[in-house]
Amino acid sequence: MITKIITATLALFIMTGCDQTPEEENWYDVMPRASWSNFELVDTGQDWFEVYKLTDNTFAIYEPNQWQEAISYLLIGSEKALLVDTLQGIGDLKAVIDQITDLPIIVVNTHSHYDHVSSNYQFDTIYSINTTYTQNNAKGHPHADYVDSMTIDTVWKNLPENFSFEFYESKAYSIDKYLKNGETINIGNREIEVIQIPGHSPDSVMLIDEQNRMMFTGDSFYPAPLYVYSDTSSFQEFFLSTQLMFSRREDVDFLMPGHNETMLKAEYLNELRAATMAILNPQTPKTVENGRATYDFGDFSIITKEPHDFGVRRGE
Ligand SMILES: [Zn+2]
Repeated sequence: MITKIITATLALFIMTGCDQTPEEENWYDVMPRASWSNFELVDTGQDWFEVYKLTDNTFAIYEPNQWQEAISYLLIGSEKALLVDTLQGIGDLKAVIDQITDLPIIVVNTHSHYDHVSSNYQFDTIYSINTTYTQNNAKGHPHADYVDSMTIDTVWKNLPENFSFEFYESKAYSIDKYLKNGETINIGNREIEVIQIPGHSPDSVMLIDEQNRMMFTGDSFYPAPLYVYSDTSSFQEFFLSTQLMFSRREDVDFLMPGHNETMLKAEYLNELRAATMAILNPQTPKTVENGRATYDFGDFSIITKEPHDFGVRRGE
């Protein structure tokens, strides 16, 4: 996810003026999301993040106060810990992780969008698949890239005192080791498989922890609009990747997305696969606006370019 869709709110602004916008049009009116109350909240002394102990050896670090509602995960092994994504660089993520574990940390990103990598610079050990797209994003992005997307309007509350939108940038980081597709990372009695699932971005991966029955899906699945419309997205690749995700449905019980909610039922893998197949059917209903098509599937939707790129041959 890059930015949450606020079309409805903007339309109301135009029709009625800002002062008459009803409360329920604020993105944070759905907060706190009820599903998080199923998990134990851990106090790490910071109120920008909410940290949840999901299982004995798995933590979620959640940013409920900004409309990305990004989530990173800390997986504890017997020798090391693996940090899946590092959020947006608004709060001090390293300080939070230091409160939870003293183990050496390996960072692996589900993909290199800024809302998943922007605290990478705080950590010493980054593993990544090797794509040109990743290498370019690892060079960081200047403030100018975020003038429209990282603003005070995106924050609900508890912004850290030392944070300034005026100077926000996504800092560069160095990759210490390139991972092969399908490579397993052993953090001590816990093995995490890294599998490429391009589509949302060229460098998207899923992480599978079979022992704990978890699939970390990044932005390839979460219960909200899935973005497959950007210049660097590919619906054709996304279609194939959802087949691959589906093929691992027997190995997992829980989907661990990069935004909004966590520990979701693995049955969504069936729905996601069926959804991408439905998009191939020209009769499937869609809403077309600004060169994009939105396909609604209930708990989630998929936004593609219009027309989508499946089957488009080079030169057509
Ligand atoms: Zn993304």
